[in-house]
Amino acid sequence: MDDDFKKAAEFHGHICPGLAMGYRVAKYAKEHYPRSQDEELVCIAENKSCSVDAVQSLLGCTAGKGNLILVDNGKQVFTFYSRDQDKALRIYFQGDVFGRMDALRQKMAAGKLTAEEKKEFQGLRSQVIENILTGKDEDLLAVKEVDIPAPEKARIYPSLQCQECGERFMEILGRTAEGKVLCKDCFEKKVC
Ligand SMILES: [Zn+2]
Ligand SMILES: [Zn+2]
Repeated sequence: MDDDFKKAAEFHGHICPGLAMGYRVAKYAKEHYPRSQDEELVCIAENKSCSVDAVQSLLGCTAGKGNLILVDNGKQVFTFYSRDQDKALRIYFQGDVFGRMDALRQKMAAGKLTAEEKKEFQGLRSQVIENILTGKDEDLLAVKEVDIPAPEKARIYPSLQCQECGERFMEILGRTAEGKVLCKDCFEKKVC
């Protein structure tokens, strides 16, 4: 297991097919895509699944820094935009890796797996992870350069104090009601 994958697994908390998928995508981006600094790279992830954590771990595109944008289309698609180069690379994880595991997964979710199937499921799962980690880039990934507008930069706004709860919040997210300046939370409690 390579160091990057180990680190990603530590960050994510467990090893799973989704993490392995994200790892292959992030590894590809890291090795094939020019960039200068991590902050210059923005990732637009089209899912909210385990794979996103591998991208955060390997590439430093994180929710906190604002260079990770989640657009949940439920797709294993990641677009990496380099601010330096004004270039974007779209990577779709196309590998059809789950096979019979998908059918068992449905059954498992319904709580209908027999003891034998449970065993089979675990075996399949390890095999799927192995296949993802060892497959060829060209089989697993559909990669193309795309032209997209530069994602908006994370901005820092002044703080205001909510006249209801007294907590400070980012000014741009403020609301007003009954002549008071309110945080979004208090606004919703009052008005909605
Ligand atoms: Zn996971
Ligand atoms: Zn408030």
